[in-house]
Amino acid sequence: MIFHSRHKTGRLDLEAIEMAVRSAMHQAGAAALTELLQFPAPAAEQRGLPCSCGHQASYRELRSKSVLTVVGKVEVSRPYYLCSHCHRGQFPADVELDIENTEFSPGVRRMQAAVGQEVPFAQGCRQMKLLANLELTAKAVERTAEAIGEEIAAREREQIQRAVQLELPLVMGEPVPILYLEMDGTGVPVVKKETVGRQGKTDGRPAHTREVKLGCVFTQTTWDAQGYALRDPDSTTYVGAIETAEEFGKRLYVEAWKRGWSRAAKKVVLGDGAEWIWNLAEQHFPGAIQIVDLYHARQHLWGLARTLYPHQEAEQRRWMMVHQDLLDDGKITELVAALRASDTSQPELAEKIRTEVGYFETNADRMRYPEFRRQHLFVGSGVIEAGCKTVIGCRCKQSGMFWTVRGANTILALRCCHFNGRFEDYWEARRA
Ligand SMILES: [Zn+2]
Repeated sequence: MIFHSRHKTGRLDLEAIEMAVRSAMHQAGAAALTELLQFPAPAAEQRGLPCSCGHQASYRELRSKSVLTVVGKVEVSRPYYLCSHCHRGQFPADVELDIENTEFSPGVRRMQAAVGQEVPFAQGCRQMKLLANLELTAKAVERTAEAIGEEIAAREREQIQRAVQLELPLVMGEPVPILYLEMDGTGVPVVKKETVGRQGKTDGRPAHTREVKLGCVFTQTTWDAQGYALRDPDSTTYVGAIETAEEFGKRLYVEAWKRGWSRAAKKVVLGDGAEWIWNLAEQHFPGAIQIVDLYHARQHLWGLARTLYPHQEAEQRRWMMVHQDLLDDGKITELVAALRASDTSQPELAEKIRTEVGYFETNADRMRYPEFRRQHLFVGSGVIEAGCKTVIGCRCKQSGMFWTVRGANTILALRCCHFNGRFEDYWEARRA
């Protein structure tokens, strides 16, 4: 083919050639693998196997099946055993090869998991074709990625269960100067059945999304020349799922523990004003410094400024100058007094001010920004907000996507595992 084409055009089309050569190498590889995967029938004295029912399964015949490997489709032929008592069949070779109940080799499944956590399944299957010359359906990428995500999620559930029942073992290691926990929630679009009976954000309208709770843990050892906190590079790990605050609290607790919660000199919980965040902080992370994200708090003031002075931007800015300074300086008592003194002749406005006064009063201790800054702590929850975009938004909130809760949770488990740099450990552990 190569020489024919050069003869016809007078030049080499390298791309066509490299693709053709790869394809030929795959075919040769698949032929070699198929040879390797012809298991002999067992010797006469090894024709019985214990069955899970307690009886004995006996060898019946050699059976073959197709398996897609990283060099293409191969045929595996291996002994089949059947239990005459419970009629359960088994292929011991499939267990050894890690191809039990699947038509994909471990190498291909790892690829499917890698693309499936990163991009939509249809795009993942195009990547598999281009990058690995493997023909797959989007459904196959989805099934494998979800199956692996489910296994990761199941291991995490076990860990959480153990953590709830027993004291967690102390994690040895260097002391951690400052350990941060941040939490946030973000909506993921779901199929109709997942929102039955759930109220949407707009009154009377059904919900179209379910909230993923995302948490992250990271560390800080130093600050810059201006005294601003610096995050330790690559120190962030994430956990996330669509679940109740109670379940999520346990999940984040286990993650914090893994990251050295017990040997952290200083512990900080950062979040917006959402009540569930502070409830979890009290319950699972007592003794941590609690900080309300400064930028959320400023947004609350902006909301008020716009209500007080609709369409009067100069007035809004002037009002903000005064009130934002009070906030930034942690003078919450003065801020609350100033808000209470505002003109509240309109009932709607009075209501809005009452709500905001409540927000600042409730969170006053979490807004001691000058004190936090003196300790060179972060006062913004930018890490978790970026996480909501990169970990969840980029993968789960693309247009036209509708998730089941189960599907979203398995892909999130898989995705967090990749983000946290733990996929290799998981994959090795399951082989062992
Ligand atoms: Zn049996």
